[in-house]
Amino acid sequence: MSIRIELADRIKNLPPYLFARIDSMKTEAKNRGVDLIDMSIGDPDMPTPQHIVEAMKVAVEKPEHHKYPSYDGMPSYREAVSGWYTRRFNISLDPEQEVLSLIGSKEGIGHIPLAFVNPGDIVLCPSPGYPVYSIATLFAGGEPYFMPLIEENGFLPDFSSIPEEVFKRTKLMFLNYPNNPTSATADKEFFSDAIALAYKYNIIICHDAAYSEIYYDNRMPVSFMEIEGAKEVGIEFHSLSKTYNMTGWRIGFAVGNSGVIAGLGKIKTNLDSGVFQAIQEASIVALDTDDNLLSSIRATYQARRDVLFGGLTDMGLDVIRPDATFYLWTRVPQGFTSENFVVHLLDRTGVLGTPGNGFGEPGAGYIRFALTVPVERIEEAVERIKKVI
Ligand SMILES: *Cc1c(COP(=O)(O)O)cnc(C)c1O
Repeated sequence: MSIRIELADRIKNLPPYLFARIDSMKTEAKNRGVDLIDMSIGDPDMPTPQHIVEAMKVAVEKPEHHKYPSYDGMPSYREAVSGWYTRRFNISLDPEQEVLSLIGSKEGIGHIPLAFVNPGDIVLCPSPGYPVYSIATLFAGGEPYFMPLIEENGFLPDFSSIPEEVFKRTKLMFLNYPNNPTSATADKEFFSDAIALAYKYNIIICHDAAYSEIYYDNRMPVSFMEIEGAKEVGIEFHSLSKTYNMTGWRIGFAVGNSGVIAGLGKIKTNLDSGVFQAIQEASIVALDTDDNLLSSIRATYQARRDVLFGGLTDMGLDVIRPDATFYLWTRVPQGFTSENFVVHLLDRTGVLGTPGNGFGEPGAGYIRFALTVPVERIEEAVERIKKVI
C-alpha cells in the first residue's frame, strides 16, 4: 500500500489543460473510426525546412555540442538573434545583455513570474489568451487580473477599464500580438499606450511575439521592441516554433530590457541547463532562412485562410478575417455555446475546433480553427460543415 499522494495546492485546483481535454475527445472520435479533420491545435503540419534539418545533422556529430550548454545560449546563437532583429525590425540588441535563449518560448513565459512576482502582486493577462500567462502567475503566488479582449475593441485590452488600485498592485503585464486565439494584430499606438502605463505604474511588459512572422497580404506585424521606450520597460518573447515549423525542437528566445533578461536568466540557471547546442547551431541557420521560403509558407497558410474564411462566411458565420497568425476566430451560430458547437461539429462532421471559452470566459461564443491542415482538407471541412449548419 502506498503512502497518501497528495497534490500541492498550487496544482490541485487547476482547470485541466485545455488541450488535454480536447485530446481525449479526439482519441474517442478516432476510436469510433471518424475521418477527423483536426483544426484544434496550433502545431504546423509542414515539416521543418530541409536546410535546417541538414544543419542539425552536421551539428549533432560534433562532440563539443554533447556537453552542458551555457545557460544564456551560445554567443553565436545570441548574435544570430540580434542580427535577425536588425534585419527584420531595424533595431539593435546587445547579444550579451539583451538576448537570452529559451527552451521554447513557453518555457520563458512560464518562468518569468518566478523572477519578478511576489505573493499578492497582480499580473495582467489577456483573456481569451494563451493559458500559460495566468497559470505561471498562479505558480509564482501572483494574482492574475484578466483583461478582456473583445471584438468591439479590436481584441485589444481596454486599459481605461482597469481600476487604478489594480494598476497600483500590478507587477507585470502579458501582451500577445499577433494574438492567439483572436488573430488580432496591434499597432504602434497601442504599444505606446501600454509603455506609458508601464512607466506610470512601474509595470514590466512581457510581449509574446510567437506569430510575428505568420502574416498575410504583406502586412508585416510590428515588434513591441520597435516602439520608443520598450527596452526600458520590458521584453519580447519569440520562438522558432511557428516561423520555421520547429515546434518539436524546443527553442526560442527573449530579448529586451537587460534587467528583466537577467532576472529570467537567474531563474533558469537554477532550473535548467540551456538548449542543446546542436539545436542552437541549426537555429542559427534557421534564423538566416531565405525570405522566399518563408513567403511560400505564408502563401500556403494564406490559401487555407481564404478557403476557410470564404467557406464559413458564405454559410453565414461571423468570422474574423485574420491579417496574421494561423487561426480563424469565429462566432458560433445562434443557439450554440462554444462547447456544444465544437461537440456538434465533431459528432456530425469530424471537424475539430477549439472552444473559445477554453481560453477564458470572454472567448465564450467563439470557436478557433487552426489552419494547420492541407487546403484540400479545409475544402472538405467546409463541404461537411455546410450540411449541418
Ligand atoms: C505556440 C505559442 C507559444 C509557444 O511556443 P514555443 O516556443 O513552442 O514554446 C507561445 N505563445 C503563444 C501565444 C503560442 O501560441
